[in-house]
Amino acid sequence: MFKRLYYILLQRIYVFRQKQKPCQGKVFMFHEVNEKDDLYAISTEHFKELLENLMQKKKIVDIETLIEEKDPDNVVISFDDVYESVYLNAYPFLKEKGIPYYLFVCNEYLDQENYLKTDMIKEMLKDSKAILASHHYRHVLSRFMKDDELKEELKRSKEELEDRFDVEIKDFAFPFGSMYACSRENIEAASGIFDHVFMTYALPYREENGNIIPRINMNNETYRKEMR
Ligand SMILES: [Zn+2]
Repeated sequence: MFKRLYYILLQRIYVFRQKQKPCQGKVFMFHEVNEKDDLYAISTEHFKELLENLMQKKKIVDIETLIEEKDPDNVVISFDDVYESVYLNAYPFLKEKGIPYYLFVCNEYLDQENYLKTDMIKEMLKDSKAILASHHYRHVLSRFMKDDELKEELKRSKEELEDRFDVEIKDFAFPFGSMYACSRENIEAASGIFDHVFMTYALPYREENGNIIPRINMNNETYRKEMR
């Protein structure tokens, strides 16, 4: 309990200090796209409205472009877990507009009820600009895993996704993604396996953090701020 509070405080201080620095692009993290009233859901209408706005005023790019250009107007779109509502409510729009987006799939959720099915992901990869990425093999807190165990599991996630979908998996997002959820050692372990490691500190991208990428959670509240 004390340890958890310590890391929550540490992250608050870190976010406060980082926020003062100039933005070099942003990564948005979505979960469900549907009518649920939840911190981890955005309505289909708000989702489309936000993306229309981004297309007009900013540029939706992949992570390599964001890191390279360091342009405050660059935005990356990503989905975690990934829920079936993304296929039903977000994918048609992303496909129609030719928008690149990341699917951080957790192996244990794949093909389960309410989550993406293998065939859906294959279609998204073929017919739209989807980029498949790993969200761990199991949806667990990495902090409590032994280093070897974590590395094994991350490699297994990467290899199984690569075999099943015939694409290279270069990106990884930690489940929960906070300072408490993942230790420095965890981040180092993931960096040895993937090109980019995505967290959930609600911050814009900064070059000084290299391949460790913070992300901003988007829901029916937070999207309003980004519409300005
Ligand atoms: Zn998750």
